[in-house]
Amino acid sequence: MSMLHVSLISDDRKQMSLAFQLLLPRKVVFGLGKRSELGSLASCLGRRAFLIDGSRTLHDSPFWIEILEPLRTAGIVVEHIATASREPTIADVDETANHVRRLKPHSGDFLIGLGGGSAMDLAKAVSAMATNTKSPTVRDYLEGVGTGLSLTNPPLPMLAIPTTAGTGTEATKNAVISVDAPPVKKSLRSEQMVPAAVLIDPELTVPNSPAQTAASGMDAITQLLESFFSRRSQPVTDALCLDGLVKALPAIESAYQNGSDLAARSAMSYAAFLSGVALANSGLGMAHGVAAALGAINDVPHGLACAVMLPVTLKTNEAVILEKVSLLNRHLEANGLPGDILGTISQLSRSLAIPEKLRDLGVQQEQLPAIVAGSRGNSMSGNPRDLTDQELTQILEAAW
Ligand SMILES: [Zn+2]
Repeated sequence: MSMLHVSLISDDRKQMSLAFQLLLPRKVVFGLGKRSELGSLASCLGRRAFLIDGSRTLHDSPFWIEILEPLRTAGIVVEHIATASREPTIADVDETANHVRRLKPHSGDFLIGLGGGSAMDLAKAVSAMATNTKSPTVRDYLEGVGTGLSLTNPPLPMLAIPTTAGTGTEATKNAVISVDAPPVKKSLRSEQMVPAAVLIDPELTVPNSPAQTAASGMDAITQLLESFFSRRSQPVTDALCLDGLVKALPAIESAYQNGSDLAARSAMSYAAFLSGVALANSGLGMAHGVAAALGAINDVPHGLACAVMLPVTLKTNEAVILEKVSLLNRHLEANGLPGDILGTISQLSRSLAIPEKLRDLGVQQEQLPAIVAGSRGNSMSGNPRDLTDQELTQILEAAW
């Protein structure tokens, strides 16, 4: 009797320990061919759309018409504002926000971010800066480098249409901006910046090259793993991470080898979206901390930097994440996959031709102290293990 009583109490406590909070886009439409539904989705947001896209090659593809046509049919006026050709800088955001401000945004206007992480981050930052005019530059609103201004007016509503499967920025509350002096990547962050609507049509990722597919796909996998192992992980995002990994791990090589494999493309787009929800709510870790510095100092593309740092990060954290590694391994095994996440990641790095060492990315050994200093952002604060500068230096020396 008393044992039953005790076990009931402890079960009760376990239930009570379930606690979480979730921030999500208001509406998500996902599926092959769903671009045909763009008109009705966009109509929920307004009548005039400021479009920011990420690729000139998209303009020449049939997708361009297939995206614009449903908008026109729905009576939406589309103003093409900018094409993002790189991860956005302060100047890119300021210039594009000024362009939108000159068009006198009013109620019924919204922004469309169409492209990879760079286009969507530019669009997210511009949606916020179009309505927040206390300072002429986004710099003043950035974490860590600005004058600490915060967004007081709601950003323009945003519709995110990713054309890569990686960053998950379609589901997050921040935009990553490159700062040049000092060279760092910093976030413009606000819960109001989560896109209001998201349209994910995995077919839009078919034109991505194998190298782009590998890097963005490994970014999504890194985000799922770092959120799962993060010190801020929580039950709902853990469930999303487990499912995202079950879908992505067996699909990434197929998407890399055969870009038209729609099942693999769908799995990767799905995993990327889940990784965005997970990281927005549970944080990341060392791979993303260091990737921010590699991007700012050495111009390494985000996905590639994460892919190189992931095996090092798992090894660094291994001793403090044993329980969750074995939980993940059991879950993979139960889904017919090899129950060895560390081995799987090493094997993927080889088969996707991900460089092994930091020097393969053009990093000079004497840059390592600056990389250590540049790694201390919001991402690093989620890492399950605290790392002193000395420890991080040793880790990066070994990875160099
Ligand atoms: Zn990432």
